[in-house]
Amino acid sequence: MEKPESVPKVAVSACLLGQNVRYNGGHCNFALFDRLNDFIEKVSFCPEVGIGLGTPRPTIRLVDSPLGIRIIEPKSGKDYTQKMAEWSELQSDSLINQKISGIVFKKGSPSCGLERVKVYSENNHPQKNGTGLFSMIFTTLYPHIPAIEEGRLSEPIQAENFLARVAMMDLWWKNEERGWTIFNLQQFHSEHKLLLQSRSPKSTRILGNLLAVNPENKSIGELALEYITMAQEYMGHNVEKRYVAAALRRAVGRLPKDLPKSQRAYLHTWIDYYLKGLVPRIASMALIQQAYEMAGSEHLPWKRLFEPFNIVSGVMAKV
Ligand code: SF4
Repeated sequence: MEKPESVPKVAVSACLLGQNVRYNGGHCNFALFDRLNDFIEKVSFCPEVGIGLGTPRPTIRLVDSPLGIRIIEPKSGKDYTQKMAEWSELQSDSLINQKISGIVFKKGSPSCGLERVKVYSENNHPQKNGTGLFSMIFTTLYPHIPAIEEGRLSEPIQAENFLARVAMMDLWWKNEERGWTIFNLQQFHSEHKLLLQSRSPKSTRILGNLLAVNPENKSIGELALEYITMAQEYMGHNVEKRYVAAALRRAVGRLPKDLPKSQRAYLHTWIDYYLKGLVPRIASMALIQQAYEMAGSEHLPWKRLFEPFNIVSGVMAKV
């Protein structure tokens, strides 16, 4: 198996990595991470252990109170909101200093859940409309870092898309380390154009315009941050077949001009088959990849669309 030289860092709720940090002293290991050992570096966190709650411990929950949403331990009535908020800010900064390229949260947790977390009211009837305190603080402070719950990673298209976003973020960090210039920011954009178009056709025009005009006259660092925040938002859109097919057609359009018409038409026929659900996407992509290889030049925008995350990781959705 071909191993990548350096891999993106992904922060993960510790219980999903098999660590016994849950309130009941157990864990909820998520098998996908065992398969990704060679492709991501995992950075674990546990907010409840982080604020000093032991393992095992009494449960805590979100409560809608006159003071707003609080994290309360119902058994004792203790309010951990302030402590958790302070820890969350520090931990969020620490994860960013480690240059994480993605974060995976445990669903349903009052600390880690991203959505539909139970919020209890005074009459005790929970509504599933809350967000865990740590996940809320992290995603508010750092909206450009791809974030997902493990439940969504069980869906192959969502897993592939999340890891494509992680790979994009990892490249962004590597560029940032070298120092941004408007030239390499535009290069980064151009390299990701086909991938972005496969998620949102209008994204490349809007992002290209941002870089060309820099309407608020931001510094290059601020502009790069605004760019990746918007790009990651577009990459978070649902993956739609018609947009993927349109990006594949663009990729065919970028093949060298001397490609015989009949071969070009053949590639479009296979994209039609994909659109009609007759063949998986990889069938038409493999043919386009072969045409690029025969043309003899590496085309980075195509590479990012063809292999947005290391293909041998096995996360590419079979659709
Ligand atoms: S869900 Fe979050 S707070 Fe709860 S055990 Fe897992 S990592 Fe810790």
